[in-house]
Amino acid sequence: MELSETVEKKSKNFIETKVEEDLAAGKNGKRVQTRFPPEPNGYLHIGHAKAIAIDFGIAQQYGGVCNLRMDDTNPQKEDTEYVEAIKKDIEWLGFKWGKLLYASDYFQQLWDLAVALIKEGKAYVDEQTSEQIAAQKGTPTQPGVESPYRNRPVEESLRLFEEMNSGNVEPGKMVLRAKIDMASDNMHFRDPIMYRVLNIPHWRTGNKWNAYPMYDYTHGQCDYWEGVTHSLCTLEFVPHRPLYDLFVDWAKEVAGDDQPLDDNRPRQTEFNKLNLTHILLSKRNLLVLVNEGIVNGWDDPRMPTICGYRRRGYSPEGILSFIGKIGYTTFDALNQMSLFESAVRDDLNKRALRVSAVVDPVKLVITNFPEGEVEVYDAVNNPENEADGTHQIEFSRELWIEREDFMEDAPKKFFRLGPGKEVRLKNSYIIRCPEENCCKKDENGNIVEIYAEYVPETKTGQANSNMKIKGKTIHWVSCNHCIEAEVRNYDRLWLVENPRDEVANYSKANGDLRGIEAMRPFLNPDSLEIKKAYVEKWCATRKPLDYLQFQRIGYYTVDYDSTPDHLVFNRTVTLKDSK
Ligand code: ATP
Ligand code: MG
Repeated sequence: MELSETVEKKSKNFIETKVEEDLAAGKNGKRVQTRFPPEPNGYLHIGHAKAIAIDFGIAQQYGGVCNLRMDDTNPQKEDTEYVEAIKKDIEWLGFKWGKLLYASDYFQQLWDLAVALIKEGKAYVDEQTSEQIAAQKGTPTQPGVESPYRNRPVEESLRLFEEMNSGNVEPGKMVLRAKIDMASDNMHFRDPIMYRVLNIPHWRTGNKWNAYPMYDYTHGQCDYWEGVTHSLCTLEFVPHRPLYDLFVDWAKEVAGDDQPLDDNRPRQTEFNKLNLTHILLSKRNLLVLVNEGIVNGWDDPRMPTICGYRRRGYSPEGILSFIGKIGYTTFDALNQMSLFESAVRDDLNKRALRVSAVVDPVKLVITNFPEGEVEVYDAVNNPENEADGTHQIEFSRELWIEREDFMEDAPKKFFRLGPGKEVRLKNSYIIRCPEENCCKKDENGNIVEIYAEYVPETKTGQANSNMKIKGKTIHWVSCNHCIEAEVRNYDRLWLVENPRDEVANYSKANGDLRGIEAMRPFLNPDSLEIKKAYVEKWCATRKPLDYLQFQRIGYYTVDYDSTPDHLVFNRTVTLKDSK
C-alpha cells in the first residue's frame, strides 16, 4: 500500500479534529496559521521532524501558512550556522515556510509591552538573587513568599528596567518579574521572570540589547502579533499554557484590541514528544557528542539529526512515513527504533537502485570460462520500478564472491557453494563446484580461491535457463571490472534501550555527573566498522546521497567523503532486522 493511502485512511488525530472544530466555529476568520519555532542552538533532530510534520502539515492540509520562526532569545548559545542548517533540513524534508521570522524581530515590541505592564503595575524589577527567588517559590502544595520588591513604586521599576538594559548591571543582579500570584496552584504563575540581564551581543541585534526576554514572555506574544491561530508544541508546555494565555491577554489589553478573546487568539495545543529507543535526543546532549569527538560532527551518520540521517541515506519520505505511523497523542511513549528502520526499509525498497558489492571477498575462478573473455549484461536497476532502467555489468573468468557463500564442509541444508554444489550467479550462469579440489588454501588453512564451472546456456532466455537447482542465487563482481571501496557500517551509538533515563539515573547516582561523564558507560565503542569491499564499476557513477541497495547485503548510500579514487559508502540499514 502507498503511504498516501495509509495516511488518507487513517482517522484524524486530535489536533486535526481541533482545527476543524475551530474552522467550523468560524474562529480566527477561518484562517489557519502555524509556526515552527526552533531555537538555533543546534541542528534539528528526528524529534523536530515530528514537530515539523504537524506544524507544516496542518497548514498545508487546511490551506493555511506555516512560518519558520527562530526562537533566538539566548544569544550565548545561538549561531547563524544553526539557522542555515535548520532551513536546509526543513527544505530537505519537503516543507516550505511562509515567512522566515525571528523572535528577535519582536524585541522592541516586547520591551514596549513590558514597559506598559510595569506602568500598569503588572510587572516589577526584583533585585534579589536567583537563589532567594527560588527559595521563595514555594512548592505545589505550599504557597510562595512575595518578594520585598514586589510593591516597589512603578517609577523605580521603570528606571531599573532601563538600567537592566544599559550594560552596567551585572547579570543576576536584577530581573523583571510579572506580578501575578505567589500562591497560585500553577507554579508558572508565581511571578515568573520576564527579563534577565545577559550583557551579551546578539548576532542579529548587535549591542542594542543587554536584557533579553524569557521564553514564556516571548512565545505567546510572537504568536499573537504574527497571527498564529494554532500554536503546536510538546507536552512539557501544558503547565505553561495558562501563562501563555495570560501574556496574550495582557498584550491585547495594552494594544487596546477589543475583539472577543475567544474568537481571535492563538491556541496552544500540546502533543507527545518523539522518543525513540537507542537514541538520545536534545540538542544539548548532541552537542556534547560532537564536542567530545564521540561522533564526527552533527551530520555523522550515527547521529539522530536530520542531517545525520540524510548522510546515512534515509529519505525524507521514509522519515515522514515513520512519523505518520506513530502519530500524535497526549501521552508520552517510547517508540521502537526497529519500527523506524522498518519504515526506512520499506521506503528504500521502492527507490534504491540495486548494485553488486562484495563486502567480505574471496576469489572464485570459473575454470571453463576462457581467460580474457568478457560478457556484458544488462542489470535491472530496480525491480520495483521499471522506469529506473538498467545498467551494464561485466562477467569474466575471475570473480569476487562473499566468503560466507562457500563452505567446504557444507551441511545438507546449505544452499550455496561447496563441493558438488550449484548456485546461480545473479544475472548470469548457473555454476557448479567440483566434488574434489574445489578450493585452494594458504599455509594457514584459509581459503584463497574457489573453483567452479559454469553450465552453458543457463543465462536468462537461453536453452537451459530453466534448469532446476537447489542452490540460491548469489551476487558477485568481476575482479577485472570492479573497484575497491570503503564501506562504513554503522551500529547503534547507544548500548541501552533508553539512554535518556539511563544517563539521568547514572548521573544522579554518581553525584550529579555532567556531560560526557554521565554518558560514557552507555556508549557503544563499536558503533562504526570500516571494511574494504569490491563494488561493480557502475557504483562510481553514483552521487552522494543516492539510494543504493547492495544486493543481499543492505541499503547503502555514497558518502560526502567519496572521491573517484576512493569510493566511500555508508550503510543506511541492513536488509532485515537482525536485532
Ligand atoms: P532540544 O531539547 O532538542 O533542544 P527543544 O525542544 O529545545 O529541543 P526547540 O528548537 O526549542 O527544541 O524546539 C522546536 C520545536 O520542536 C518545539 O515546538 C519543540 O516542542 C519541538 N520538539 C523538540 N523536540 C521534540 C521531540 N522530541 N518530539 C517532538 N517535537 C519536538
Ligand atoms: Mg531547547
